[in-house]
Amino acid sequence: MTLTPLGLDPTLCFIGGAWVRALASARLALINPSDGSALCEIACGSDADIDRAVQAASAALHGDWGKATAAERGRVLARIGQGVLAHVDELTQLEALDVGKPLKQARADVIALARYMEFYAGACDKVHGETIPYLDGYTVYTLREPHGVTGHIIPWNYPMQIIGRSVGAALAMGNAAVLKPAEEACLTALAFAEIARQAGLPDGALNVVPGLGAEAGAALTRHPGVHHVSFTGSVGVGKLIQETTARNVVPVTLELGGKSPQLVFDDADIDAALPFLVNAGIQNAGQTCSAASRILVQRGVYDRVSAEMGKRYDAFRVGPALRDLDVGPLISARQKDIVEGYLAKGDGLQVVGRGQIVDDAPAHGAYVAPTLFTGVDPDHVLAQEEIFGPVQVIIPFDTEEEAVQIANGTDFGLVAAVWSQNGARQMRLAKRLRAGQVFLNNYGAGGGVELPFGGTGLSGHGREKGFEALYGFSTLKTVAAFHG
Ligand code: NAP
Ligand code: MG
Repeated sequence: MTLTPLGLDPTLCFIGGAWVRALASARLALINPSDGSALCEIACGSDADIDRAVQAASAALHGDWGKATAAERGRVLARIGQGVLAHVDELTQLEALDVGKPLKQARADVIALARYMEFYAGACDKVHGETIPYLDGYTVYTLREPHGVTGHIIPWNYPMQIIGRSVGAALAMGNAAVLKPAEEACLTALAFAEIARQAGLPDGALNVVPGLGAEAGAALTRHPGVHHVSFTGSVGVGKLIQETTARNVVPVTLELGGKSPQLVFDDADIDAALPFLVNAGIQNAGQTCSAASRILVQRGVYDRVSAEMGKRYDAFRVGPALRDLDVGPLISARQKDIVEGYLAKGDGLQVVGRGQIVDDAPAHGAYVAPTLFTGVDPDHVLAQEEIFGPVQVIIPFDTEEEAVQIANGTDFGLVAAVWSQNGARQMRLAKRLRAGQVFLNNYGAGGGVELPFGGTGLSGHGREKGFEALYGFSTLKTVAAFHG
């Protein structure tokens, strides 16, 4: 396995359609979280590199990219999607090594990235304006136009999926993008840039500058040449970015964390629910913004659901990404410390299931055994704060009303699910649950490239994915013509 598929040199930035050296000589080390070893070095982009990238994006808007028709944008996005699929094995390996994802999960992300490109390729020429009936002698219509240069700051947990949903939609609408991937995982972002270059994406339409959040990321959010910022990451940094972009009066999409609940009622099909209940907790070792970290269970099925989920937890095996077990390592030793800190706060709670780290797992891997707590009070810190690790809590409830109160009883509002055969209850709860997405008798099934996604409360605002994202990545102009 080469770390430089596609002939990549990971120490370079991608600016203006070319691989260039960062202006500062400092480098960042990428760590393989499966064993703690150094993978390679990447560039540590500075203010000046971000400035070059924003200028290149700006130039693209006045060049070939800005002149491309919607259909031409669609064709190039489609070729990028095919390029992603043509490199599925290399991208899978890179993500497994960099993020620690078991191969199956890494591969699913590659497929999702290709699917985003396919979806947005097809959508490019289908965003239409409107004509508006108005005064006598007037014709009024609306135009959907790109913001201009869009900044994209992404986390390490799902680099490819987040590139797909944010860069894909931004390019579809004719913006030129500057992407700052996470310092802990940026190999697939660099590989994606090379795939886009080979697919014929015009110079400057996409620029990738790796670096530190506080340096390259902050420089991107405050740059006066950036017209929209899409941020996915933590609540704390999201608040900072909202403040910074406010100074330039620039719109921002914030996809922050969650504490998403799945509600299981006595009348639910428990066998159908079980795989979704546990998978939504341990997928990507729980480092998923839409992880269902709270499982609310009605008393009549509480013992059964706790026991069955516990059995599945006991069977989970944790180990190196390339072994392709149920769960890989966390992204870093630091993340492992954070999650272990939370587990310590669960002292005294009942543990009903715990996975096992394989005996031969490397000592310096960031492994945490998946842990399932039951009988947890809704106000307990483990039921309130986002843990971002393979930890779920089961909370019992008696009535539908109580379930809604508990489900809505955190500062977040990203995703929720209802497991019940009662159609009226499904409809009631879909309205009452505070979340950007509600799943009825499933949870995130199919990946949901087509489904608008985003939160309320501390989970953020704005929507990505689906067609809705195209409205967020464009601005509306109203044209009123008087012709008598
Ligand atoms: P993070 O620390 O907020 O980092 C996210 C990105 O922001 C990284 O690229 C980071 O750079 C950059 N950044 C850090 N400080 C910055 C600053 N001052 N200005 C501009 N950019 C800055 O989050 P994380 O630890 O990577 O990811 C975990 C969190 O993300 C969790 O809370 C999770 O829920 C949330 N998340 C949400 C979603 C969603 O869709 N809602 C998806 C994934 C993750 P570095 O490279 O230096 O880290
Ligand atoms: Mg890494």
